[in-house]
Amino acid sequence: MISKILIANRGEIALRVLRACKELGISTVAVHSTADADAMHVRLADESVCIGPPPSRDSYLNIHQIVAACEITGADAVHPGYGFLSENAKFADILEAHGITFIGPTAEHIRLMGDKITAKKTAVELGIPVVPGSDGEVTPDNALEIARQIGFPVLIKATAGGGGRGMKVAKTEADLEEAFNTARSEAAAAFGNDAVYMEKYLGKPRHIEIQVVGDGAGNAIHLGERDCSLQRRHQKVWEEANSPALNVDQRMKIGQICADAMKKMKYRGAGTIEFLYENGEFYFIEMNTRLQVEHPITEAITGIDLVHEQIRVASGAGLSVTQDEISFSGHAIECRINAEDPRTFVPSPGTITHFHAPGGLGVRVDSGAYAGYKIPPYYDSLIGKLIVHGRTRVECMMRLRRVLDEFVVDGIKTTLPLFQDLVSNQDIANGDYDIHWLEKYLAGDKPSA
Ligand code: ADP
Repeated sequence: MISKILIANRGEIALRVLRACKELGISTVAVHSTADADAMHVRLADESVCIGPPPSRDSYLNIHQIVAACEITGADAVHPGYGFLSENAKFADILEAHGITFIGPTAEHIRLMGDKITAKKTAVELGIPVVPGSDGEVTPDNALEIARQIGFPVLIKATAGGGGRGMKVAKTEADLEEAFNTARSEAAAAFGNDAVYMEKYLGKPRHIEIQVVGDGAGNAIHLGERDCSLQRRHQKVWEEANSPALNVDQRMKIGQICADAMKKMKYRGAGTIEFLYENGEFYFIEMNTRLQVEHPITEAITGIDLVHEQIRVASGAGLSVTQDEISFSGHAIECRINAEDPRTFVPSPGTITHFHAPGGLGVRVDSGAYAGYKIPPYYDSLIGKLIVHGRTRVECMMRLRRVLDEFVVDGIKTTLPLFQDLVSNQDIANGDYDIHWLEKYLAGDKPSA
């Protein structure tokens, strides 16, 4: 059994994990950089350890310091949250070598899914539908031939990709060379690896992802889908569960394909299988082997605490539910509240002078922010997540409109006004949007405001 968990993260997700630990009666250790000494996750943890100066590479990414913090405090497990070391196979290996449980999948599975070419090959072997594309790496010699086989437009993507970097579209043969070279140099700069592969470029897909959890012994469940099509620069902004585009049969079919794949792999932990969805077809793009930012909307419609499940399976206690015990109730929407200018998206760090989180039935705010909190400029700008649940999508939207009016964050700029616009938009009300909708809307080419 796990008795003390070190949370190797910061911000809202560190707090989220801490809450689950408290509910399970597990002691908590917070780690923090010098910039985060006053953070809420540090205040609420049983113990805390300063692991270095503000830059992430010296603190939240510093494996040596985190392992030392485990040893000093006697933590027997580490929860990595998302980002930082959550998909770092070397970190999982090192913890294991120290006899510390990594709350996540095996290092082998992290590696398998961390490389996009092997992830796609694995998906094919496991019976998951993928985007038509190259079998493996694309080189200057074979790029044109492969692109012709796939058919233009094509997308060049970095094998080591993440965050939408190292990705370029070639609409026609004439664009190919430039797209290929740009994708490669971006990939080399961002990931130190210039390997790229090629996919059919889908014109108007939705981004739909399936939440899975496995026990590592061949049992796995799915918890339905999340629709994360509303994105800016490949970053998710607004997510919903269920997807306005799927019916029950489609949900259960793709969900079962994913759960079966995880059973075959003997996957352990929570994971997300991401798809593009167009004309009734699903196309695998990647698997994230960790908890995701948008996991609370799945929790809202299933009532299952995903962090509890992660801790259970990591400790060998197995899943708390079987597939037939899972039901989907109502509709949930998450808005990512960033400390950014709502028009230019320029980060807006600084001191929050006034903070009032909304409440009432069906409302959840996951945030480490409070009045007087100084947002440091060193990390990402997510300051909180607003999750609203209703019995139907219409009720959820009505509630969201009310809740957004109640939310007060003063002293800094936030993206709250953007959500006030979106919640009143006709396309959003109709659930009628694809992955390009938000960019067009923000560019002023307002689809049907
Ligand atoms: P990353 O790991 O860099 O986030 P993904 O493979 O997850 O890369 O893709 C990120 C986003 O890029 C997707 O959500 C989608 O918006 C777009 N995208 C990826 N592959 C395709 C494709 N084949 N066709 C069209 N858009 C794509």
